[in-house]
Amino acid sequence: MTQPQRLPSLRRVAVCGGTHGNEMSGVYLVRHWLRDPSELQRGTFHATPFLGNPRAIEQCTRYIGRDLNRTLTADFLNSKNTNLYEVQRAQEINQTFGPKGSSQAYDLIVDLHNTTANMGSCLIVDSEHSLLSMHICDYIQKHSRIRRCPILFYQQQPEEETYSVCSVSKAGLALELGPQPQGVARADLLAHMRSIMACALDFIELFNKGTLFPAFETEAYKVVGPVDFPRYPNGEISAVIHPNLQDKDFQPLKPGDPIFQTLSGEDILYDGDDVTYPVFINEAAYYEKKVAFIKTEKRTFSQPALQKMF
Ligand SMILES: [Zn+2]
Repeated sequence: MTQPQRLPSLRRVAVCGGTHGNEMSGVYLVRHWLRDPSELQRGTFHATPFLGNPRAIEQCTRYIGRDLNRTLTADFLNSKNTNLYEVQRAQEINQTFGPKGSSQAYDLIVDLHNTTANMGSCLIVDSEHSLLSMHICDYIQKHSRIRRCPILFYQQQPEEETYSVCSVSKAGLALELGPQPQGVARADLLAHMRSIMACALDFIELFNKGTLFPAFETEAYKVVGPVDFPRYPNGEISAVIHPNLQDKDFQPLKPGDPIFQTLSGEDILYDGDDVTYPVFINEAAYYEKKVAFIKTEKRTFSQPALQKMF
C-alpha cells in the first residue's frame, strides 16, 4: 500500500453564511450559531461562524455593489479603491481569515449557499487537486444521512485564479443546496445543510485525532462552461428553459435534446457534440451573468489516502 499523504491538523476552521445575502439557509444557520455555537464545537477545535455580506443580508439581496463571491482576487484584495462595499468586505474577510495564500490563513472555510436550481445537496470544490476537501466530500457522501451529494469542480483551468470567499483559507468547501427561492428558507434544505455541516466537522475531528482515511475513487462533475439564453438582436431573452430540461441538474443532456422553448412554442435543441451534465439550470442569480445553465463533464477521480502529519 502506498503511504498516505500527510497534512497538518486543522485548528482554525470558519463557517460562512450569507456570502449572498438572499440565500437563507446559511444566513439562518450562521445567525443561530452566532447565538449558540455549541453545535460547531468538537474536542480538538471549534469552528467560527461569520456572516459574509451583512449589508446584503439586511437588504435581502445577493450583493450591494458587486458579487462578493467573485471579489476575493489579488486585484480587489490589494485595491486602494474601497468605494464598493464588497471590496471592503473582501479585504476584511481576508484580514480576519487569511491572508489568502499565506501560512497564517485559516485551515478551512466552509461557505453555505443556496440555489434556485434543483441541485440537491451539492458539494463544490476547486478541483480534484484539493485533497483535504475531497476527503471531506467523500466522508460526507459515505456518512451523511443525505442520499446523494454530488461533487462539482468549479475551476476550469488549473492556473485559473480563485475568487470565492472560501479561497481565502488553505482549503475550502462550498455547500450549494437547492431548489430554494431567493429570500426563502425551506426547513428541509436547512436540515440537510446542517447535517452536512455536522458531518464535515466530524471528519475534521477524526482527522485531527489521527484517523487514516483510505484512498478512494469518486465520481465528480467538472465545469466545462456556461450556456446563455437565446436572445433577440437587442439583447432581450427570446426563449426560456425547456420544460424537459427544467430541474434536470446533473442528468445527462444529449445532442439533439431540447434545451429552450421560444415564446412562439418552438423547441431549441442542444447542438453540442457530446453528452453533458448541466447544473445551475435556471438559476435566478445567473440571469444577470447571461447564464441559462452550466455544462459539466462527469468523470471518475482517484484520491490518495490521507492522514494527519504526526
Ligand atoms: Zn450563493
